[in-house]
Amino acid sequence: MKTFEQIRDNLIEHGVRPSNYRIRILQCLEDDKLHPTADQMYQNLLNEFPTLSKMSVYNTIETLLDAGLIREVTIENNEVRYDANLLEHGHFKCNHCGKIYNIEIDFKSLKISGLDHFIVKDQDIFLKGICPECSNHKQSI
Ligand SMILES: [Zn+2]
Ligand SMILES: [Zn+2]
Repeated sequence: MKTFEQIRDNLIEHGVRPSNYRIRILQCLEDDKLHPTADQMYQNLLNEFPTLSKMSVYNTIETLLDAGLIREVTIENNEVRYDANLLEHGHFKCNHCGKIYNIEIDFKSLKISGLDHFIVKDQDIFLKGICPECSNHKQSI
């Protein structure tokens, strides 16, 4: 888990002025591995910053995206999630609880054809199904 100071330095290194909102939103994304939506982040931070507006959450996310500090994860096209894990990985969405988990994928070992002359800028792999938490729960009902 990164400290407040580490997050602040990370922002400065990426040319982003480290306001409290920016530090806390990036920290939330570092801590929350389940890829929250902008709305969820807003709800989570409301206790801490009662004057926080949804607009400032969206603006902060935009700034962090532009600086390359976070990335968007879009599995359903009506729902954008955010991820501070910039290392190569894929995602698993549980159809039951809606959580999105990180999964390890070695993209280089995948056999992909039809990509000659294409320039890949971003890569992700999505799997959907039922997570262990939900399948255990179902069995005990
Ligand atoms: Zn689940
Ligand atoms: Zn992820």
